[in-house]
Amino acid sequence: MDLPAAPLPRGAPRDAGSRPALPGRRGGLARLGLAAAVDLVRLVLPVACAGCGLPDVPWCAPCAAHLLGPPRRCDHHAARLDLLEGRTLLPVLAPASFAGPVRHAVTAWKDGGRADLDRPFAAALRRTARRVPVVATAVLVVAVPSSPAARRRRGRAPVDVLAAAVAAGLRDVGVDARRASVLARTAGPDLAGLGARARGAALAGRVRVRRPSGVPGRDVVLVDDVLTTGATLAACRAALVAAGARVVGAYALAATPPPSRGTVGASAAPAASHVHDDGPSG
Ligand SMILES: [Zn+2]
Repeated sequence: MDLPAAPLPRGAPRDAGSRPALPGRRGGLARLGLAAAVDLVRLVLPVACAGCGLPDVPWCAPCAAHLLGPPRRCDHHAARLDLLEGRTLLPVLAPASFAGPVRHAVTAWKDGGRADLDRPFAAALRRTARRVPVVATAVLVVAVPSSPAARRRRGRAPVDVLAAAVAAGLRDVGVDARRASVLARTAGPDLAGLGARARGAALAGRVRVRRPSGVPGRDVVLVDDVLTTGATLAACRAALVAAGARVVGAYALAATPPPSRGTVGASAAPAASHVHDDGPSG
């Protein structure tokens, strides 16, 4: 959130001579700014479920149940990962579909200041990695990098929370899993609204390995928040493979649901082009 950089005023304002000082609390509030005031209101007013809006509970049990299902492979429905004939660039596992309450909640978590969802989302990914671990004895767990603009806007990279959870889940089952921030994104135009092909082209060359020396010969697991076209994972994988790593799989919190059986055909593509596919970078 856009918290003001300056501390709250205490005592007499420094510029009291140049303009009239507002007394006490009123002066403080005037300096807080609208964004911070909204945050303050959120703190003192009852919360609502980020998934369904149910009052007084941040994340209700029925919505939480959407994250409790068995992990599912979702790479076969991602256009940029599909190599046809049943093969894909890498296996991707996710516990939920990016739809309904999960979609609302993930959006609120990433861009609505709902960092209180760190805990249930991390628990879901830890459980997923524990239930379906990658086939490797030692891995680097690498979060999909945010664009500089997204990191500035959000004040953090929410996907880092998920990467830590995946590493913990893999360690739970005996995999030597360590976090490694080896990828970086360069600035560029927003990818929202681009189709799979255009998105892939726009991303090519915008993901780089920033510490290449630690990567050759290593097995790497990627972590993203939402899988849609797979363009981001494909770009990350390409950068890592070029640096000498093996990318053995990926985890995401949610994946856009596959097209329903009744619509398989000419217009079967989901509305993925309208979904932010570039993970934490918006
Ligand atoms: Zn709910």
